[in-house]
Amino acid sequence: MYQDFQTHLTSELAAIKEAGLFKNERLIASPQGADIVVNGKHVLNFCANNYLGLANHPALIAAAKKAMDERGYGMSSVRFICGTQDRHKELEQAISRYFGTEDAILYAACFDANGGVFEPLLTEEDAIISDALNHASIIDGVRLCKAQRFRYANADMAELEEQLKAAQSCRFRLIVTDGVFSMDGNVCPLDKIYELANRYNAMIMVDESHSAGVVGKTGRGVTELYQLRGKVEILTGTLGKAFGGAVGGFTTGKKEIIDLLRQRSRPYLFSNSLPPMVVAAGIEMFAMMDKTNELQDKLHRNTDYFREKMLAAGFDIKPTQSAICAVMLYDAKLSQEFSAKLQDEGIYVTGFYYPVVPKGQARIRVQISAAHEQEHLDKCIEAFIKVGKMLEVI
Ligand SMILES: *Cc1c(COP(=O)(O)O)cnc(C)c1O
Repeated sequence: MYQDFQTHLTSELAAIKEAGLFKNERLIASPQGADIVVNGKHVLNFCANNYLGLANHPALIAAAKKAMDERGYGMSSVRFICGTQDRHKELEQAISRYFGTEDAILYAACFDANGGVFEPLLTEEDAIISDALNHASIIDGVRLCKAQRFRYANADMAELEEQLKAAQSCRFRLIVTDGVFSMDGNVCPLDKIYELANRYNAMIMVDESHSAGVVGKTGRGVTELYQLRGKVEILTGTLGKAFGGAVGGFTTGKKEIIDLLRQRSRPYLFSNSLPPMVVAAGIEMFAMMDKTNELQDKLHRNTDYFREKMLAAGFDIKPTQSAICAVMLYDAKLSQEFSAKLQDEGIYVTGFYYPVVPKGQARIRVQISAAHEQEHLDKCIEAFIKVGKMLEVI
């Protein structure tokens, strides 16, 4: 049997390579940060989700080490059998304080939070109305649920309204959107979504994975930006991006929603509890966020600086309120050539093209971090200008 399957797999892999879509992993031999060692060479990193520079923060490392000494390495259990330490509850409370919500529930990852949020709450009588560019984990989560599915083009409020109208006969309606969309870096228009939700009697879920810690004056996400703290029924997010970058996800929002997820959400009930070190570092991280806004301020300064200089140099950058800067090149081949030349200049970025982004919309995605110092930003901008002139982009 395996021989036939092997032949099939070999041809699938060849097809991926032929289409130029084969993903290779570059090996990093240093901690995550602004300056990393890739293939034995130092490069400046502009493609991690390490927005606040916490992935190698001494306070989080110390908290993690201390927790290992005090509470051990692993839990060897799911939460409801014997996998809940006092610290898990403390972290859940810290998350709901941060977002101004009523309660929170932890998962191994946001992929699991999104995988386990729809099926326990909604049935075939209900409607999920989803932005077309939502994250893969939302799409998979929706597939696991029997609710009727409606879709609107990215951030298109006229289409959302049409879909809300079409879903009026359903029992409950849930609008689902990413807070920040990872390819353009655009923030969802939550103010308008909120208005429509009120008008058409719908609830809202926002995935804050790329927006938490980043968007809003104090980084508390899109509900802070739009002054809608505590008004959105469901938020999901990750501890794997701005919040330290290790692992872990959460759902936070209305109390009864979280209560029911604890009873019925399958990735919560049937998957292991987060290890003490991750939980302790998470608690330390939220305590840091309460004490100072230094990292958010630096991130926002860095992002504004980078965008201004790049626009002044003549680059075409999508306007956003996130830390994602999409430098538009439009041509797929050009995006690959451009990012390869930036690598030679010691700048680590990724070029994206179809099918990851629409045809003719190839780009280099630059992710700014509070870990970047001005000299890092300047070096990146200089390299962009040098390669941009070489390839006649500017
Ligand atoms: C990264 C991301 C996730 C997945 O988060 P993990 O904790 O790494 O599983 C989910 N949703 C969105 C919008 C993301 O950007």
